[in-house]
This record gives sequence, structure tokens and C-alpha cells, in this order.
Amino acid sequence: MLTRRTALGLLGASAFATRVAAEARHVYDLRPVQIAEGVWMIEGATEYFTDKIGGAIVNIALLKGATGLIVIDTGPSRRYGEALAGLARQLDIRGVSAVVNTHHHPDHFFGNQVFAGTPIFGLGETQSAAFEEGDAFADNMYRLLGDWMRGTEVVPPGQVIEGGDVEIDGRRFTTFPLGGHTVADLALLDHATGTLVAGDLVFYDRAPTTPSADLARWQTSLDALEGIGAAQLVPGHGPVDRDRKAIAQTRAYLTWLDGTLRSGAREGLDMIDLMQAPLPPEFAGMGAQPQEYHRSISHLFPEIERQELPLASSL
Ligand SMILES: [Zn+2]
Repeated sequence: MLTRRTALGLLGASAFATRVAAEARHVYDLRPVQIAEGVWMIEGATEYFTDKIGGAIVNIALLKGATGLIVIDTGPSRRYGEALAGLARQLDIRGVSAVVNTHHHPDHFFGNQVFAGTPIFGLGETQSAAFEEGDAFADNMYRLLGDWMRGTEVVPPGQVIEGGDVEIDGRRFTTFPLGGHTVADLALLDHATGTLVAGDLVFYDRAPTTPSADLARWQTSLDALEGIGAAQLVPGHGPVDRDRKAIAQTRAYLTWLDGTLRSGAREGLDMIDLMQAPLPPEFAGMGAQPQEYHRSISHLFPEIERQELPLASSL
């Protein structure tokens, strides 16, 4: 007879085998978890972006509308979008009624083409940034993810959404047009459940990414999100937050990052010196560290150095 421990071990082994098989076939294994009445979340991996998981690092929010599912962000590829569409049919036989993109980073909107017959909402600046940068993002994603990306085309959001109270497929939201993680970051508060879908303005237990960041503006956006006092928050990456910790954690990390790079510049350190310095314990355990810290140094340090040492950089 199997002991409980053995049975659990076998279950674990078979789940592992399923996952390995899925990876071999380049199939996304999406598992929505209900986080409120009529609201589900697919939690992305918090590890560093790799082709092992097909770039599935992003969180997706699914909300039940009057006629179908409202999908917030669509993942990194056509295949991911197809998996999402299949899942929507499982949760709600009427399929997807509307799509919203929180911002123009490729892991959040490259599944859009699957929903081309559905309204796809995004901020105006997100739409233009997706047109401007989408092809370069696509080149990079094909290089990083290879076959996972097959057939993926860049489809920017087609419907411009603005700030304020809006109704999408019978569901009421307040939308917040913010920025700082990118040029335009949209957050949405679902009225029925008090769920705030924060996009990548908030990362939780996963290091924030900064390739398009304006850190000062990002901090202002975090203040705005904190003022909402939402019942729960879906970050762009990391677990759902019901303890009001995720905004504070993102703010603390960005404050530390900015301060570390500025004092490093003033002390005459270079990028290699900064990369070799150990991360403080509260940030070292975040997913995708130290890789994201290292990327942030390369994104942000040249400009910070110019600001802190204007004479030296003009010589
Ligand atoms: Zn992002």
C-alpha cells in the first residue's frame, strides 16, 4: 500500500513528467487560480526570462464579463495567446469578449494576434510605443525563445482607453493612466471585487525590470496606486498581494537601486564594481536576481553617471 508520502511523491513525479513533456512540445501549461468571484489569475514564473518556459513570466488577469472573459495582458507569443483562448473556453464557454494591454512590453502583448477579432484596449502611448518598438522587441524575442515564437506577429492594441470610469463587457473599472515602468502603464481597479490589476508598475518577490524605466515617475505612480487602497493587487510579476506589501516592496527596491547607482557614480565606481557588490538580503531573494540588478545597471547607470558627474562625462 502506498503511504501518503509516497503517493505525494508519485504525484509530484507525474506533474514533473507532464511539465517536461509540455516543454518538449513547446506547449504552455497555463493554470488559472480564482482570486475573487469571477476573477482568475495566471501567475507567471518569477525566474529570469528563459526559453525553458517559453518566456511565460507574466501574470494574466481574467475577469468574467457579461458576454465572455475580459483578458488583461496576453503573454509573450502567439502560442501563449492560443493557450489563453483555450483556457477561456474552459472557464467560460462564450470565449474572450475583450482584451486589455497594461503596457507595450512584449511579454504582455505578443499573444494579441489570437484575439484580433476582439476589441484590444490600451493607452494611446502604449499603442504608439508598440508600433514603434514592436518589431525590435519581436527580433529579440525570436532570438531568445526560438520555436516558442513561431508565427508570432506584433499586433498593437487597436482601441485607445483613457483614465476614469469605464465599462468593459458590462464590468465596471476605474482605469489609471500612469507611467514610469514604461512611457505608459495602465492600472485597472475592478469595482465588483476591489481587485487592482497593476501591470508592471508593481512587482512582488520578483525583481523589477527597467529597460524603459523613468524611476522618479514610477515612484509617483506607486504613490497613486497606494492611494487607491485596493482589497487585493495583481502585480505584473509575482503572487497576488492581499497584505499591501507589494507596492512598498517595489518602492523600496527602486529607491535602493537609484540611491546605489547615484552614490556609486559619485564615488567613481564603474559598472563592473557595482555588479560585483552583493545585493542587500531583502532584495537578494527576489526572483530573477542578480540578473535584473545587473541589467538595471546597464540600462540606468550611464545616464545617472552623466547626471551625478556632469563635468567628468563631458571631458
Ligand atoms: Zn514590463
